[in-house]
Amino acid sequence: MKRLAILIVFTCLVLISTGCHALPGAVPPSSSPQSPSAEPAPPALATEASVVRVIDGDTIEVDIAGNLYRVRYIGIDTPETVHPTRGEELYGKEASAKNKELVEGKEVHLEKDISDTDKYGRLLCYVWVGDLLVNAELVRLGYAQVATYPPDVKYQDLFLQLQREAREAGRGLWATTRPAQPITQGTYVGSIQSDKYHYPDCYWAQQIKPENLIWFSSAKEALDMGYVPCKVCGPPDQ
Ligand SMILES: [Zn+2]
Repeated sequence: MKRLAILIVFTCLVLISTGCHALPGAVPPSSSPQSPSAEPAPPALATEASVVRVIDGDTIEVDIAGNLYRVRYIGIDTPETVHPTRGEELYGKEASAKNKELVEGKEVHLEKDISDTDKYGRLLCYVWVGDLLVNAELVRLGYAQVATYPPDVKYQDLFLQLQREAREAGRGLWATTRPAQPITQGTYVGSIQSDKYHYPDCYWAQQIKPENLIWFSSAKEALDMGYVPCKVCGPPDQ
């Protein structure tokens, strides 16, 4: 039964994953490691697409050879324009507007990482406009936060570095979400250098340098600040 379920999921993934692939017969992209500080070059092999519509700060609709696909940017999260339960999130509109400015109506190159699609069937891609990696630009300008979902981590080091710079400069959403006073204790803990929150006794929580600690009194508080639950210690996600 379990094997059957896996087979069905795999078959579905194969069926829906046509967008970010290089063309049939093409040589697979090289997997040379990306050094964190180097400016990445656009991939030699990527799928060309035109952006039909910008849905929000990290989701677009594209036309690939006459077919429409939804594309979710890899490695980042922007505030949702209208959240189902929280209403309009801080900075959602601005992130959406910046994304429009960067890609709307343009020809883009889509680069995939390991996964083809997310659980909603959207293509997971790095989006390039010429030499500009849009995922990175949104982080650099403070319109997006880094959200790492292994195994799709090709540009994670670059994204984290740009996020640190944006946070230090107080750009975009970092101008408003930083707490006025550091909190010194709470139920969950995170690092200002990452986007995970943990139980305080988690191995990874204990690796955080004291000056980088940030405490949350509830999971909601952590989530509201853009943190996501650690997959190792598994704190509640609501
Ligand atoms: Zn943890």
